[in-house]
Amino acid sequence: MSIRVIIIGTGSAISDRAYGSSAAILSGDGIVLIDCPDSILRAMRDASVTSGIRLDPMSISDIVITHLHGDHVNGLETIGWKQWIARQGGNATRPNLHAIRPVVDRLWERLAPSMDQNGSAVLADYFSVNTLVPGVPANIAGLRVECRSTEHLIPCCGLRISSGGATLGWSGDTRFDPEHIDWLSSADIVVHETSESRVHTPIACLNSLPPELRQKIRLIHMEDNFNQAVTDIVPLTEGEVLDVTGSVRSSID
Ligand SMILES: [Zn+2]
Repeated sequence: MSIRVIIIGTGSAISDRAYGSSAAILSGDGIVLIDCPDSILRAMRDASVTSGIRLDPMSISDIVITHLHGDHVNGLETIGWKQWIARQGGNATRPNLHAIRPVVDRLWERLAPSMDQNGSAVLADYFSVNTLVPGVPANIAGLRVECRSTEHLIPCCGLRISSGGATLGWSGDTRFDPEHIDWLSSADIVVHETSESRVHTPIACLNSLPPELRQKIRLIHMEDNFNQAVTDIVPLTEGEVLDVTGSVRSSID
């Protein structure tokens, strides 16, 4: 058993070259998105072409949102409307949306100005919302999902996603936090953010980690001028397929 992860975006918040950091996990129920950045439909199409694995936005069953920065949620309106319109013809289900309490509490505040249909709509018209609680595992499309709050500009969480003995770690946006890395380190592959900012994790901090840990980290949320030569940690590419297994790790480029 493994977890198949297709990387959709690898960029930082202000990249003009890459999509916002996000991925799709293929589950028996459909596609589980981790975050939902700008241009999500085009990003999914591009990842489909590169990976050879079709990512149909109508097959999104679940969306896990780490936090409310635009490079992680700006695509929600698009997915929300696309599936809502299809439901008017009876052709789609309502995607589940999972996030920690502070994100759930303010999400509609962000979406309502463009989605409230003159006051007659609510968030539940577009998404079935489930609140993630740190320390309490959730079952999302058959995957065991744990979350942990990170240290960022706004409330954010990292994730451990397990299935069949395999675990994917996902840092979420965070400043360098050894405790968070320790929590993630039990995973078979750890997707960790990097950017040169006090609210993100500079690459020099990740370079200071032990070699056996660096070996299972994959980099995401990279700035456009990121210099790959300064690290031996492998950066992710858009459309890359990660097959996360419990014992043997492989990456298909
Ligand atoms: Zn952020």
